[in-house]
Parts: sequence; structure tokens; C-alpha cells
Amino acid sequence: MWTSWNGSFKKWTTSSFPATSYPRCRLRMPASLSASQFLSGLQCHKRLYLDIHSPDLATEIDDVLQGRFDMGTEVGILAHGRFPGGALVADRDLSQALEHTARLVQDSSVRAIFEATFEFNGVIVKVDILERAQNGTWNLIEVKSATDLKDEYFDDAAIQAYAVKGAGLQLSGASVMHLNNKYVYEGGELDLAQLFTVKNITTEVNARQAAIPHRVEAMVAMLASNVVPSIEPDGHCDAPYPCGFFSHCRKAKPARWVYDLPRITEKKFQKLVGLGIECIDDIPENFKLSVAQQRMKTNIEWMSPDLKFELESVRYPVHHLDFETFMLAIPRYPMTTPYQKLTFQWSNHIEMEDGTVRHEKCISTSRKDPDEEIAVTLLESLGKEGSICVFSNYEKTTLAGLGEKFPHLKPMIELAIGRLWDLQSIIGKHYYHPAFNGSFSLKVVLPALMPALKYDDLEIQNGGQASQQYYKIVFGEISAIETESIKSALLKYCERDTWAMVELRRVLRQKSYSA
Ligand code: SF4
Repeated sequence: MWTSWNGSFKKWTTSSFPATSYPRCRLRMPASLSASQFLSGLQCHKRLYLDIHSPDLATEIDDVLQGRFDMGTEVGILAHGRFPGGALVADRDLSQALEHTARLVQDSSVRAIFEATFEFNGVIVKVDILERAQNGTWNLIEVKSATDLKDEYFDDAAIQAYAVKGAGLQLSGASVMHLNNKYVYEGGELDLAQLFTVKNITTEVNARQAAIPHRVEAMVAMLASNVVPSIEPDGHCDAPYPCGFFSHCRKAKPARWVYDLPRITEKKFQKLVGLGIECIDDIPENFKLSVAQQRMKTNIEWMSPDLKFELESVRYPVHHLDFETFMLAIPRYPMTTPYQKLTFQWSNHIEMEDGTVRHEKCISTSRKDPDEEIAVTLLESLGKEGSICVFSNYEKTTLAGLGEKFPHLKPMIELAIGRLWDLQSIIGKHYYHPAFNGSFSLKVVLPALMPALKYDDLEIQNGGQASQQYYKIVFGEISAIETESIKSALLKYCERDTWAMVELRRVLRQKSYSA
């Protein structure tokens, strides 16, 4: 799993292993590379260098990301349940963890070791699950909270297998155990055999063994240098894992960096790099750009002659709808699957033809699946008349999902889907403002057109935080006062999204009339 040594993440770094100082070069050198550090180095030597020598340059981990890490930890612990008779190496101190692992390896009554720790040739690993197999051999199992097998897991398992084998154990196989998104939880005890899927990756892991020693050597040599590797940010910064040093590396680039062009492909970006062009304003006129990219390059306010007509196509009463949703890696509600989208809140500002606006809202805070309460109350609020203004395709897919889940509501939900009117799509085709910086997200469009109406006065400022806070209300152990405070913050956040659409329509109408 992608976890640090002590499991506590403060920054997007992996440098939490014991370190030894080297007075000659005054660099903080790790005694050995962890699996996470090795993977950082595979992605980018500069990332590993900064991880070790300048971890403070990384972006702080926010609650949303921390929540994802916590979810991964929860999945990892749950996976232990698939291996009865297993023992956990929980020691924080490295030498104690190594000794504890060695004792468990010798104890044949232990069927599996969780977090088994090994050090070999400059590498330290903690294996999620090491299962005792036939004839004194072992199976190495990496646990992932994803729902499919990803290429990056091969390197992760390979470095672990390298250290395990180097420490003298014989491996009979390597696997990835990930969540199965086809598993339908029926209530009561989770069926762990169904919740997890195991995939054999022995061939891929073996194929990577020969390259590991020189890769580790190259990383160690790079880390001993006083010079930060000269590596330019580009598509590799996000793959396979988003790099926490991106903001730091981005600082060396122009404010209007070509990488920020909307939906720029790596191929087009590298073509511009090859031409020595870093700033959008330096792109030659004959360089092929998409319509959205060209608008960002032109960088002036632009309005299509059809904007007025498009805005007038709306039918009154105009509903302005926004949902908040969340997903649980491990299902907790009967008849749901891992990562199934669940809708816990809606907000609807209803504007009448005479300009009056009223607000309706709902948040479900019971401990049961919120979807049905949300669907029923929303359909009542939407009624049968008028357009339903949304800002993206998200509400459409969410409504469609609710229709599939509740067949008795499907006909009414389909009628509501037929009334959707996507303001973001209209803006994307008919209006551009330089402050958009190529983005058409509500959080960017709103302050560009209505500087007084932002999100920074709210406690919850984005959908990720909303899901995180909702999880606390429903599953966290918090006081009634804190619950009420979070509920109020959630209601304000969702209300801001729908009020934003009312105001954006008004401002755009004014602009189109005065054009
Ligand atoms: S942002 Fe990119 S270039 Fe900079 S350290 Fe991270 S991966 Fe390397």
C-alpha cells in the first residue's frame, strides 16, 4: 500500500524512514530506501530528492486526501480478516520490527504476517500480507483500495519481493488484492471473500527483479549529490501518482504557462517544449490549438452572438439544482457496492418569471442509505414544470443512477432529466473571460463574473470537503454540537452553489443584452 513508515501523513512525502546525516555534503541521507521512496524515485528522481532533502517544499496534505489515505488504511486492516491465524508486526522501531518479523517467520503456527518488515541491500519494505505457503515458501500480497489492477502495482510489489527474497525467504508467488466493485453488501457481516479480488502478478514482479539493484544504486548516488536533479515538470508529475512538489516546481514557470492550456495533451505540450515555448503568449498564430485553448491564448472577454438566445431558452420556473455525494470504499449500507455514489444533499433555488426566488433544500443525516430520501424529496421540490439549471453533467448522471436504483421513481426522474439545462455548457460555448484561465469550473467562473460572491467565507469550500465532513456526521464519533455545526456548513455550501447559478444567469443576461 502507498503508506509511510509510521502511517501518519503530514505532507505528500515518503521520507519518514530513519535517516543518517552525512557531514561531508551536509545532506540528510536515508539509511535505506522505503518502497514508497523507491516508487517516488521511479516516477521522478527530483521528487525523491525533494522527499528526502526538502520535504517542507511539498504541499500540505488536506483533509480530503488524508481521508483517502485513512480509507486505504481501513481497507488494509479489513484485508487481514481474509487470513485467519495471521500476526501483525506493529512495532514502530525499525530494528524491533525486523526482529519481530524474523520471529514470526520461524513460528510455523503463524499462517500469515501482516506488515512483515525486511531490509536488504539499501531497501526497507513492509509487506501488507505475507502468507505462509507450501514447503516453506511464502505468498506476497499487496492490498489496494482501488477496484482494478494498475500497472504501477507491479513495481510496488516488485521492490517488496526484492527485499523479501534478499532477506532469505523463498517466494512462491505475488498477488494484488483489491476491492471488488461487483460485490453487493447484503447487510450484517461483510463477505471478505467477495469484497476482495485477488490477482496473480508473479510474472510481472519477477520480470522487474533484475533492474532493481541498479535502479536503487542510481537513486542512492543521486541522493548523495548536492545538486537537485534538473527535471522539468510535465505529464510525468501526475502519473502514476500526483506529485506533492508540483506547486514548488510550477513556481519556476511563467504565470501563463503552456501546460495550463485547457485539455492540452502531453504530445502537444512536448511539441511546444521542443519549440522552446513556455508562455502561452509566445505560441505562434499558426500553431494548432483547440477552440478553448485559443480563447485562453487570446485572453480577452468574448461573447458569442447566440449567448442571449441560449439564455432565453430557459423555461420558468427555473430550478437551480446541486447535489452533494459521497462514496464508501467499504460498503456500509445494504445492497450497495464498494465506491457506489450515494447522494446525501440537494439545494434548489427556484426563480419565478417575475424575478422572485425561493430556496428549498434537504440533507439526510440518518445512518441509513440517504439515496431514497434524497430522490423523493427532490422530485417533490422539482415539481413538473420549468427548466432545471445545473452546472455540469454530474447532476444528470446522479439522477440517472437514482432512477436505476429506484425503479418506481424512474419515470419521474427521467422527466426531470429531460428538463435539465446545463449553464456550464452554455458558458463553454458562448462566453469567455480572461479570469477563467482556461477553466469552466463553477469555483473559477463565479469569482470571475461576480468577484463579491466567492467561497472563501465558507467553512466548506469544495465537494471533497463536503463528502469528508458528511462522513464525520454519519460515521464519526462527534458531539451533537459539532454535528449541527457541520450540517449548517454543508447546507451553506450547497446553497452557495445554486445561488451562484442564479446570479451567473443574471449577470450573463445583463452582458448579453448590453452587447
Ligand atoms: S513536480 Fe514533477 S518534476 Fe517536480 S518533483 Fe514532482 S514529479 Fe518531479
